[in-house]
Amino acid sequence: MEEKRIRKDNEAFLKQLNMTDYETTYEHFKWDDLDKVFEGLPSGGLNIAHEAIDRHANGPLADKPALIWLGEDGQERIFTYAQMKKESAKFANVIKTLGFEKGERIYTLSTRLPELYIGAMGILKNRSVMCPLFSQFGPEPILQRMQRGDAKGLLTTKRLYEKKIAPQLDALPDLRYILLIDAEEDVDEKVLSLPSLMKKASDTFEIESTDPEDMSLLHFTSGTTGMPKGVIHVHKAVYTHWVTGAYVLDLHEDDIYWCTADPGWVTGTSYGIIAPWLHGATNIVNEAEFDAERWYGILQDYKVNVWYTAPTAIRRLMRLDIDPLERFDLSHLRVVQSVGEPLNPEAVIWGVEKLKMPIHDNWWQTETGGIMIANYPCMDVKPGSMGKPLPGIVAAVVRQNEDGSVTEITEAGKDGDLALKPGWPSMFRGYLHNEEKYKNSFAGGWYISGDLAYRDEDGYFWFVGRADDIIKTSGHMVGPFEVESALMEHPAVAEVGVIGKPDPLIGQLVKAFVSLKSGYAPDEKLKRELIGFARKKLGAAVAPKEIEFQEDLPKTRSGKIMRRLLKARELGLPEGDTSTLEK
Ligand code: ATP
Ligand code: MG
Repeated sequence: MEEKRIRKDNEAFLKQLNMTDYETTYEHFKWDDLDKVFEGLPSGGLNIAHEAIDRHANGPLADKPALIWLGEDGQERIFTYAQMKKESAKFANVIKTLGFEKGERIYTLSTRLPELYIGAMGILKNRSVMCPLFSQFGPEPILQRMQRGDAKGLLTTKRLYEKKIAPQLDALPDLRYILLIDAEEDVDEKVLSLPSLMKKASDTFEIESTDPEDMSLLHFTSGTTGMPKGVIHVHKAVYTHWVTGAYVLDLHEDDIYWCTADPGWVTGTSYGIIAPWLHGATNIVNEAEFDAERWYGILQDYKVNVWYTAPTAIRRLMRLDIDPLERFDLSHLRVVQSVGEPLNPEAVIWGVEKLKMPIHDNWWQTETGGIMIANYPCMDVKPGSMGKPLPGIVAAVVRQNEDGSVTEITEAGKDGDLALKPGWPSMFRGYLHNEEKYKNSFAGGWYISGDLAYRDEDGYFWFVGRADDIIKTSGHMVGPFEVESALMEHPAVAEVGVIGKPDPLIGQLVKAFVSLKSGYAPDEKLKRELIGFARKKLGAAVAPKEIEFQEDLPKTRSGKIMRRLLKARELGLPEGDTSTLEK
């Protein structure tokens, strides 16, 4: 694909960044140098909640808003760092009094309410483990995750409790207490009113000594490729959250920051809760679901400086006929970052045209706990590339040999497994109840991500596809992302998912599922036009041979196109785990 480069040559912009020179920072970076960034606990050790909230509440940022909550119906609630410290202390006292101990799993199942964020900090203060569930899950995925993770407590709302938990309470005998965020009175001796407990709780809490290796969060993956895995993280992960907050998001104390991800997914905790607070920024939380007008309105009215969102949301904005800068004042916006799935070059360019700044793509996984490869504000952007490894991270493209050894591929442009040198602070410490799978994720001294990529001659990494999604056609290996990105450039195309369909002659045939922008008719003529369009860009061997129009593509609730489902449906095979499918 032809390569474009968006230069970063605005000196005034560059001068104010936390990282002004990527190469030098990368070369000199040492994780141990960060020890001095963190205060540590008076009782010893390191606790995420202390570093994110209490440290600031005890200092000059005490009266600064930590959280601005924007309710669905237009309400606004603001919590300063001092208030967050008190509220989370109360929460920690509530669960401590109820007998919750270090290491015990407390699940959260809530829409984006302030209590979810207070609860997160309170759970960590008590050294219990937070396990977030996405509030739109149905009863079955909730039950399954709670059973697998040995849930001892649950923070939820009345509505979610009644609809999704109460009918299956018998299947959760180990669940000791359920705290209802919005119940004025206890339901029974097990299902309690959080407000009444909070009223009685002390607003001071001394965090007991926390080992940086103590478990902090249990996160389930998105389930894009199969059954979601429970991923174990520890308090030490704050090191990665801090560095990425500084270098990727470029967070400063006076920033207003908005991450659109829900805390049911790892982006919504690492970057929707922890990273902005580590940097003393003001974190915007929007309770409502996607709505373009509302989103642009938030960016404008709250003078958001740093915005972290996802390709699926950007594609939805691109689909609409809104020219944001004509209608909204987004002059405070400084950095836009995106994660979750590949960001098509088209979307990066849309940012340059419509927001007057590129959208920066970055890559990571639930397993990595934080951003690993990124486009930094100080670095030129090559649209379509994931960028370069975070300072402190060694990333490589490798080949796994039959004898179990691993060879690094140093040749530019050659595809292989995207791998990371183990040992970074937020690296997952295990898959829940699956030691075997955890061990198998490492080979020859590398963590093998399961994604395929290549590196170009300038050291930029390019996503090719998930190892499971790679298409073998007429002796070529085709990454779906390349085909999808080419089709995305056609004005009619809103979204694409590409799969390999078994074919007796050529092994697999490239098939594209396309959803169209409004105003375009899904007819044979357009199919032929799209195939021709892709052929011109990609060549006949790589371009799709079949196109099927669909109104909407199947996506995970975290917004990723589920190619495995497109494929299963195409082939009439069982759909497998669909617990995370957006319905
Ligand atoms: P599961 O592991 O259950 O199949 P998942 O891999 O989608 O689900 P996550 O951990 O939420 O669960 O997602 C990480 C994956 O998302 C990455 O391995 C990668 O495939 C994809 N991804 C994330 N960011 C990017 C990006 N910037 N470019 C390309 N792919 C990305
Ligand atoms: Mg995965």
